[in-house]
Amino acid sequence: MRIGFGYDSHVFEDGKPLVLGGVLIPDCAGLKAHSDGDVLVHAIIDALFGAAALGDIGSHFPDTDEKWRGADSAELLRAAVYEVRGAGYAIENIDATVICERPKLRPFVDLMRSTLAGLMGVGIGRVSVKGKTNEKMDDVGAGKGIVVHAVALLRESKAE
Ligand code: MG
Repeated sequence: MRIGFGYDSHVFEDGKPLVLGGVLIPDCAGLKAHSDGDVLVHAIIDALFGAAALGDIGSHFPDTDEKWRGADSAELLRAAVYEVRGAGYAIENIDATVICERPKLRPFVDLMRSTLAGLMGVGIGRVSVKGKTNEKMDDVGAGKGIVVHAVALLRESKAE
């Protein structure tokens, strides 16, 4: 078994759609980023690469590369899972905590879980997404952006 931890943060930017966990969230500003700013997917990718000791999201998909401008983070997640599988690992489970004052995440959590599970080719029971506020503390508590912490557990998979 191998454990990995991922962290990401992005600030809100008006005039962009908000995409979280591959799900379009209505009525909320998007996130400033070179890609679509899916902060949840980015943290999960870093957890996966971390567990496999394969570097990080920036080393695989550099934000200086025009190739990734406006990138669909869902496709980056698919590519990351492909690399992790290629290195001989299968995903045991993912757990992520999304911290923001807005939007309210509860109505979208199960859709995010099923979308992420589909992108990673695992059952929804292996993917947990939890939403929290920062109790109005600091910049996240002031509603300036979204922070995500994620862990990934991988198992060595001789068959793959
Ligand atoms: Mg990011």
